[in-house]
Amino acid sequence: MQLKKIILKGFKSFPEKTTLEFNQGVTAIVGPNGSGKSNIIEAIRWVMGEQSAKTLRGDRMNDVIFSGTNERKPLNIAEVELILDNSDHYLGIEYEEVSILRRISRTGDSTYMINQQECRLRDIVDLFMDSGLGKESFSVISQGKVEAIFNSKPEDRRGIFEEAAGVYKYKVRKQDAEKKLEQTQDNLDRVQDILYELE
Ligand code: ATP
Repeated sequence: MQLKKIILKGFKSFPEKTTLEFNQGVTAIVGPNGSGKSNIIEAIRWVMGEQSAKTLRGDRMNDVIFSGTNERKPLNIAEVELILDNSDHYLGIEYEEVSILRRISRTGDSTYMINQQECRLRDIVDLFMDSGLGKESFSVISQGKVEAIFNSKPEDRRGIFEEAAGVYKYKVRKQDAEKKLEQTQDNLDRVQDILYELE
């Protein structure tokens, strides 16, 4: 699998439709301080399902929408699309090329799409988590993260190894299953109470 293209529209410091194409090998993005290098990495995190505004250096999710400059009015919609070459079927989906799109508007509407088909955030998160590329994975390492890993507590560091070893996705599924079991037990208890009342 290879990241082929990122298309940004109204995301942070990119009001214009901006397309970045990635070829084989290593790609380096260079530019002066404040020119938007980190914003590109954050766009990747965001489209992959990031739900924490703080991780994206904002207070609210709307902060990812272009907020205007002296010369340009703010925009009302932010959109990021990732195009991935999936000819090796690394992502568990049959398409050779996969497009992932996320859109947000100031009114609070959110749209998620996989190959132009509207989907849930959960579908995007699952698609990447199953492939070990989830937003919590170490495929995207932001500034300060390396230091944070070295300084982390042993139990947090264990989480890092679990993610790298592919255990994390099973932990998330186990938590989901346990929550469902708990809800089912609550429902069963309620049914039992009603049965007692009827007897
Ligand atoms: P450095 O090299 O210092 O790390 P950088 O190239 O990584 O910088 P970024 O941190 O990606 O730069 O970009 C910061 C710029 O993005 C700032 O000028 C900030 O005003 C702008 N910016 C962030 N959010 C928005 C937004 N919602 N609307 C408009 N501009 C924004």
